Amino acid sequence: MSKIDQLLKSLNAFIAKAEEDEEQLQDVVPDFPGLENLPAIIEDYEKAIAKLLRAQQKVFLDALNTFVSKDDKQTLEAFLVFLRNDIFAADEFAEQFGEETAKFLELTIEDLTKLMMESIDKDVPFELLSKKTTDWIQSWSSDLADLMQLNTHEALEKELVQAIENGESIAEAEMRIKELPQFDRNRARATARTEILTASSQAHYESFKQSPAVTGKKWKHSGAKKTAPRATHVAMDGVAIPVDDYFYVDGEAGKYPRDPMFSAKNRVNCGCVIGPVVDEIILGLSKEEKEAIRQEVLNEMNG
Ligand SMILES: [Zn+2]
Repeated sequence: MSKIDQLLKSLNAFIAKAEEDEEQLQDVVPDFPGLENLPAIIEDYEKAIAKLLRAQQKVFLDALNTFVSKDDKQTLEAFLVFLRNDIFAADEFAEQFGEETAKFLELTIEDLTKLMMESIDKDVPFELLSKKTTDWIQSWSSDLADLMQLNTHEALEKELVQAIENGESIAEAEMRIKELPQFDRNRARATARTEILTASSQAHYESFKQSPAVTGKKWKHSGAKKTAPRATHVAMDGVAIPVDDYFYVDGEAGKYPRDPMFSAKNRVNCGCVIGPVVDEIILGLSKEEKEAIRQEVLNEMNG
């Protein structure tokens, strides 16, 4: 097996384990030199998210307590209005989470791209991420942050509406906020572990684009433990297309296996991977010739 295949296989196995298992990531260190730091980086990101979620929960609990303490005849209905008009608008979670996520993605994408490019062709080492990828990091971090914040606000509103309908007390409503799963550690963990798949996919893209010898990407079928292989995924084995193109599975488009663009039936328990299509003739060109090709691609990606 080539070095890049070994790296991608090891990375994919690690991500699959991270997504499936309850285990501490420190116990599932990937067996490829250079990937050892990944579990610690993911756990740091998970801790940062957990901290932001706790801070966000505290803002809502404090808001409720302050609201009630000013006037003990306050109702939950009035608090809900206050929440919608004032507290939600002042919520800083999205901004802070967006910053943490951009930092995490930049760090992991850079590390992985560097390792992938080294494994494909030592003559063309990684230098800088393209503007296309740094722009993508900013926009995805901000989109994900907004989605997460909206999800929390909607869940909170739903709890309060429920409490009002049930005629619950302020203390009971407070308990609902304390127990809301949107603020708990599992959400931080699931988010961090999902985003390493996102980072890995973008690193595949970046390294394949920047490596002159890579002329395309190839789908490789690999069964997951839990399910029988899907005939449609087995049929994808060996399908090679340009790096910017989409794979079509059951009429659905996606840039890589488990792309969020695919529906759940194609994502869940899929262990497939993509690998580079390497042109041996380009690989044999001089270092200078390959560098010139890389610069041309980078100019296009930075334009
Ligand atoms: Zn699959």
